[in-house]
Amino acid sequence: MTEKSGADILVEALCDLGVEVVFGYPGGAVLPIYDALFRSGRIKHILVRHEQAATHAAEGYARSTGKPGVVLVTSGPGATNAVTGITDALMDSIPMVVITGQVPTTLIGSDAFQEADTVGITRHCTKHNYLVKDPARLGPVIHEAFHIATSGRPGPVVVDIPKNVQVATAKYQKPGPIQHKTYRPALKADRAAIEQVVDMLAAAERPVLYTGGGVINAGPAASQLLQELARITGAPVTSTLMGLGAYPASGPAWLGMLGMHGTYEANMAMNQADLVVAIGSRFDDRVTGRLDAFSPNSRKVHIDIDRSSINKTVRIDLAIVADAGHAMEDMVRVWKARQHPKPDTANWWQRIGEWRAKKCLSFPESTKEIMPQRAIRALWEATHARSPIITTEVGQHQMWAAQHFDFDLPNKWLTSGGLGTMGYGLPAAIGAQLGNPKALVIDIAGEASIQMNIQELATATQYRLPVKVFILNNEYMGMVRQWQELTYESRYSESYSDALPDFVKLAEAYGWKGIRIETPDQLEAGIADMLAHDGPVMVDCMVAKLANCFPMIPSGAAHTEMILQANEVSGTMDDEAKALV
Ligand code: FAD
Repeated sequence: MTEKSGADILVEALCDLGVEVVFGYPGGAVLPIYDALFRSGRIKHILVRHEQAATHAAEGYARSTGKPGVVLVTSGPGATNAVTGITDALMDSIPMVVITGQVPTTLIGSDAFQEADTVGITRHCTKHNYLVKDPARLGPVIHEAFHIATSGRPGPVVVDIPKNVQVATAKYQKPGPIQHKTYRPALKADRAAIEQVVDMLAAAERPVLYTGGGVINAGPAASQLLQELARITGAPVTSTLMGLGAYPASGPAWLGMLGMHGTYEANMAMNQADLVVAIGSRFDDRVTGRLDAFSPNSRKVHIDIDRSSINKTVRIDLAIVADAGHAMEDMVRVWKARQHPKPDTANWWQRIGEWRAKKCLSFPESTKEIMPQRAIRALWEATHARSPIITTEVGQHQMWAAQHFDFDLPNKWLTSGGLGTMGYGLPAAIGAQLGNPKALVIDIAGEASIQMNIQELATATQYRLPVKVFILNNEYMGMVRQWQELTYESRYSESYSDALPDFVKLAEAYGWKGIRIETPDQLEAGIADMLAHDGPVMVDCMVAKLANCFPMIPSGAAHTEMILQANEVSGTMDDEAKALV
């Protein structure tokens, strides 16, 4: 076995791990690795225009393909620019390996040029991180990093490699399966717990399956199992923002998304349920609303691969630490083995029907201005037959997309849920397009968010990626403005998007096609124009400026205290909640 440089070992290890694409940006402390990539020619490197975008592109790639996203950045600002995306991946459980260059080991701690304590800085926003000081350790560390990033609850792992370690030589051999001393995530559930949840479901009168991003993480088979579970138990299904698509929006048991901007029927069902089975969802505050009023009369089962998610915010009656797919497979098997008949949930569905009759997602139509919800519906109507991949930025447009773009398949909806990172959507779309070259990929954006990583238009141009960006342009940071209207007596402090660029000209300057849609009668033709172009297109769709995103549970209010439309509140609010509206 001949010795190789650390940089060559890294590239060979990445190849052994099946890595095809790396998103990155070169700099002094990673030049040996860039040289090794150049000489090897086996890995496609995507040159982004900002390191934050590399991380979001890797997230988009990972979320849409199920494979880990890989990032390569230099020391100092390269690493610190990546921190937002690393934190985003941690919050949303996205498998990602970030390789950062570091100053030579002899200079660490000396305030050397472009030195930052990357391991220290990323300690709290990674699943795990490493500083590799010995080239002989590089191969094993890289393999372990991928194992940790992709197994159990997926997440980001940082490997910081000093420049002298990239240059020094050592032997490398592809290791066998990783057996970590202490890290052994459980995939299979305890049999007794599975029998218990099956019995609970069989006995429940008002069950709800509350599903989340963990079902998507468990792979497409888990989505099939979820449909089977809903079918045999008769239980309605709701999902978090992160789980959309795991159960088809056209499916018979679908209640819509729950939580702050969820549907009335989903939130009321959660409130009135006698049994909530949470599958790969983490009782986030956007979902629970006021904790002491959250689903007050239900017993709660939590199926989650991460033990530390359980009992974090809501008290659980039965905890099942397992992969969502494995757990549901066992539940279906036990249910069938016990020959449980389908429970009679007719009364429950009748109540759900009454809540549905409120048609909480209806919105005021207009012939004069484009309602943003109408724009999303028009986009869905024109594209859903092609099962597009939709990414979003963060804000009102994101919630309107979640509410009005129906997803029937998993891995088609890529959004920044936990961290809520403006600027996520365009690079995520680039990553998704690279992972799915034939797919239609659309970033539904707001005019404020899109500017946070607008430089990535150049990345799409360079790699001939036919990404579409559809901006709902209301000239406001819409979600901020909405909260200011509802809770700060319409004092719109700094939420007006002043001095906006001409997005059509901007698109053209980057070699994209630019389209502007200004009136409702231009909507369908504008979307058709966008779809007809086989290169990247940016659509600037001017929408009603002051439209609000309803329904909405005001922050800190209960599920029964939704604002359905302006001036229509679903239940009695206590004084504390009223103060929040
Ligand atoms: P995720 O973050 O997807 O976490 C997945 C959970 O499943 C974790 O506990 C993890 O340990 C577990 N898991 C991972 N893999 C597996 C596996 N293989 N098997 C089993 N378990 C696994 N969200 C809403 O739902 N409704 C809203 O109205 C809403 N409004 C929002 C508004 C804005 C402006 C923004 C930015 C976000 C909003 N969100 C909303 C998103 C919210 O902040 C959270 O990101 C989201 O609710 C969390 O989804 P989740 O519970 O599915 O968890």
